[in-house]
Amino acid sequence: MSSHPDQTLWSFPGGLELPGHKALSTAGPIEVAKLPKQLVLPLQQHIGAPANPVVQVGDKVKKGQLLAAPEGFVSAPIHASTSGTVIAIEDRQVPHPSGLSAPCIVLESDGEDAWCELQPHADYVNLDPSELRNIIRDAGIVGLGGAGFPSFIKLNPGARTSIDTLILNGAECEPFISCDDMLMRERADEVVHGARIMQHALNAKRCLIGIEDNKPEAIAAIGEAIRRLNQPSISLMKVPTRYPAGGEKQLIRLLTGKEVPSQGLPIDIGVVCHNVATAASVHRAVELGQPMISRIVTITGHAAAQPQNMEVRLGTPIEAVLEQAGGDNGQAHRLLLGGPMMGFELRNRQLPTTKTANCLLLATDQDAPKREVISDCIRCGQCALVCPMRLLPQQLYWHAKAKDFDKAQDYDLFDCIECGCCTHVCPAQLPLVNFYRFAKTHIWAQEREKQQADLARERHEFRLFRQQREKEEKAARHKAKADAVAKGGGEDSKKAAIKAAMERAKAKKAAVQANGADEAPTEAPVKESTAPETAGQPAPDKEPKP
Ligand code: SF4
Ligand code: SF4
Repeated sequence: MSSHPDQTLWSFPGGLELPGHKALSTAGPIEVAKLPKQLVLPLQQHIGAPANPVVQVGDKVKKGQLLAAPEGFVSAPIHASTSGTVIAIEDRQVPHPSGLSAPCIVLESDGEDAWCELQPHADYVNLDPSELRNIIRDAGIVGLGGAGFPSFIKLNPGARTSIDTLILNGAECEPFISCDDMLMRERADEVVHGARIMQHALNAKRCLIGIEDNKPEAIAAIGEAIRRLNQPSISLMKVPTRYPAGGEKQLIRLLTGKEVPSQGLPIDIGVVCHNVATAASVHRAVELGQPMISRIVTITGHAAAQPQNMEVRLGTPIEAVLEQAGGDNGQAHRLLLGGPMMGFELRNRQLPTTKTANCLLLATDQDAPKREVISDCIRCGQCALVCPMRLLPQQLYWHAKAKDFDKAQDYDLFDCIECGCCTHVCPAQLPLVNFYRFAKTHIWAQEREKQQADLARERHEFRLFRQQREKEEKAARHKAKADAVAKGGGEDSKKAAIKAAMERAKAKKAAVQANGADEAPTEAPVKESTAPETAGQPAPDKEPKP
């Protein structure tokens, strides 16, 4: 299958040609991981706020049932990966470079794996794009290419932005990882159906599916699915195998020639980019009604006994996945989550599989060598030659190291995609990306602190303003009442009125007695009110009668 005849391929700067090692894990079909006895579901498996549990310990749940609802706009729900009982909601260690713990829902399987009631929407073309986005949000779909950004947000261009092109990223450029490759080979129809749904949600004129040319089987399968499903607005494009062709900005540049502006988003140039596996999940969510409860994981590396791809329920312990794949062959130097360029080392195999876990790399020393710093930067400039973002990595390094974060930002720190090309070629073996992550984390923390300080200051100023306003209002009330009293004669006039009334009553009684008549008085005597009065005025219902 060649690229679409009307399409021209562009190029991106820098990058590396790396040995792919893809064939290691693509020899057999995708296996299904066994159902574990216990699943641990972190409440944050996505970019954004952690989800909020809607179940309690002891609750019985069905597969696909909502366990935790999104907290705020940038968040994603978590669903039960199987049927069973919630046995704990507590902090557990999660797969993260920090090695820290985070809140998780622990589910004990009942072995039945019984679905809850699902709501498929086979007629999605009749749905409004906003309804589609709600379905995708409620299904907990996040970007499966790495970061885990909630997908419904990227499918909402807003009323004033028109999307010309949807790009599906099937490049999968990082060595060893083959989960997208196998998905495209075996489930090409799901990817194409997902592309159609996303196009509908975005009202995008066309969809381009970019696949690296080292995946001929995937290219053939996707091309065949496009033809069979008769989708003329979807084009397949082969891209050269060069790391990081699967970086969002690099793939957009390769396929459209357009440049995403510095610190901008693809949407700024009328493009939205999603991963092929995300598209397949969107198809399942919309047309089958299934929320995201599993993903395909590559188990690979020259230390893996049986490298392969496996569909794994979210929450399954990594140890169980590795065990089913035969474990390691005794040469494992370290276990990485992700590939050798962007992955990170796992020190605990009991951690759960999450939405963003694309690869378990049982690496030998050659697969992912540990880098020992040889010297400080020798200013050789090799890092700048390979940077696909045209940055100056050595300058970023110096400024990050000196904690001169303003300067690091002046050198476009936040345009760094952390691809690791600079680290890979650095003869001094400096862990450059770690310095960039450190600088970014520090700047975000400073930003958060500043926002919190601004918020605290605003609250304090508002409290002062409110106190002053209340004081002024109280003073105005007092003045108004005092004026009213002065105008109506005040206490003296009230007492005089009471006295006059009593005297009238007394005079009337004396007149009756004098006349010997036995008549009822026409006007009752009025007692002085003992009810509390405000500002010298009698309460309205106690007002003395004249
Ligand atoms: S490659 Fe390493 S040593 Fe060379 S300039 Fe870049 S950071 Fe410095
Ligand atoms: S990690 Fe950042 S600085 Fe280094 S090559 Fe990649 S984009 Fe450039």
